[in-house]
Amino acid sequence: MQYLEKLMDQFSDTPRNIILHADVCRRGIKITEDLKNAAPNTCVTGITNKLQETVLEQIPIPNQFIFKADETTVDIKIDGKSPYEINKDGEGKYSLFCGGQNMGAVKFIKRPSYIDKQTSDGKDVANMIMQRGPFCLLVSPLDFCAYMRKDEACKYCLLSAAMEVAIEKKLIEAIPDYNVLAEAVSLACEDINLKDLKICGGALYNTSKEASYYKKCIEAILNRIDKPEELTVFSQAFEKEDQKDLQKLGVQNVLFNLEVWNEGLWPELLPGKTKAIGRKEWIKRLEDAVDVFGRGHVGTSFVAGFECAPRKGFLSQDEALKSYIEGFEFLIKRGIVPWFTVWTASPLVGGFSENDPPPTEFYLRLGETVHELLGKYGVYPDLGFNEMGVDPPTLGLYCNYCYSMSFTRDYPRLIGRNGKNG
Ligand code: SF4
Repeated sequence: MQYLEKLMDQFSDTPRNIILHADVCRRGIKITEDLKNAAPNTCVTGITNKLQETVLEQIPIPNQFIFKADETTVDIKIDGKSPYEINKDGEGKYSLFCGGQNMGAVKFIKRPSYIDKQTSDGKDVANMIMQRGPFCLLVSPLDFCAYMRKDEACKYCLLSAAMEVAIEKKLIEAIPDYNVLAEAVSLACEDINLKDLKICGGALYNTSKEASYYKKCIEAILNRIDKPEELTVFSQAFEKEDQKDLQKLGVQNVLFNLEVWNEGLWPELLPGKTKAIGRKEWIKRLEDAVDVFGRGHVGTSFVAGFECAPRKGFLSQDEALKSYIEGFEFLIKRGIVPWFTVWTASPLVGGFSENDPPPTEFYLRLGETVHELLGKYGVYPDLGFNEMGVDPPTLGLYCNYCYSMSFTRDYPRLIGRNGKNG
């Protein structure tokens, strides 16, 4: 609690729920009986949840919690040392607590009925679909990473290892049958009012081949359901011709995540991506994507803080901040929207420990910078915000429900909300 108060003093102009969102992303949530008991009635098909369940063999817990006051949506990542807990208050309603103090009433996404359904060939729908927020689904056209299999995976990545474990356990297939996947999506659509379908998978050295899987997957799904309001692809940076094909299929948004900004660290931290594409070409393909999809429809994310992990040859925290800030401005000037996730050390990747990621202040400084730069270069209207302090009128790149693993999307929603600062 003292640390949280210190953050509130230090970032006194920042809305309180942005600070809480950042600190919960950094320090996680302690599992409690109340949180465990909430799981059977809530959505448990989120990304973090899947990783926690598949690899760490933790019990299912809700994916996200939502502050009732302003819909700020936060990923739940379990950490036994966290000061944060979700418990029922005296009236039996869920709230977030820090050091025993009630930080606000929260709710969860209700458990969708497709979780218990199977496709006609007996596959569990819940193993093929991830849900974020009340109305967005994510499916994967490629459930493995070729880099992992050649020992060239990105150094922070838990996903590639998780996919291998899930394939071994026969929970998923390396390349799913897209007709079965499409059936799973249509079963989910009986239950939720699908607005944004997100397509995101592993990686191949040959990005054209990788793109061909995305195209086939989208075609199969759109043969089965009406096109949702938005179609978003998260993938490696595809070539312009492949981007155009995706756009013709109805894709509106692409996220080609650079993950690491510092040029010198790219080969060491992203060996597979360096060999297959390279940083310079990745940035060029992001610029191409702005031509194809337009401003406000192209984004790139970073695993912020990893570049300053306490390892020989990595940056100091000050150097990393400076480098990220330069990188964000470089990208924003080119119509590319940067954002970041908060790096937390996984027990399974790289041998890092819990105190290796930078503190929450580091992330709040980065968040402020992204917000100021998006304002300075007039990007918010491209993201649907003609004014501050409102919920986004479209989903696009700034849906606060989907991107609950990051808090940058809270700035335009919460600053100036109800005529005050949060
Ligand atoms: S490309 Fe990198 S981040 Fe993506 S799955 Fe492979 S190792 Fe993980």
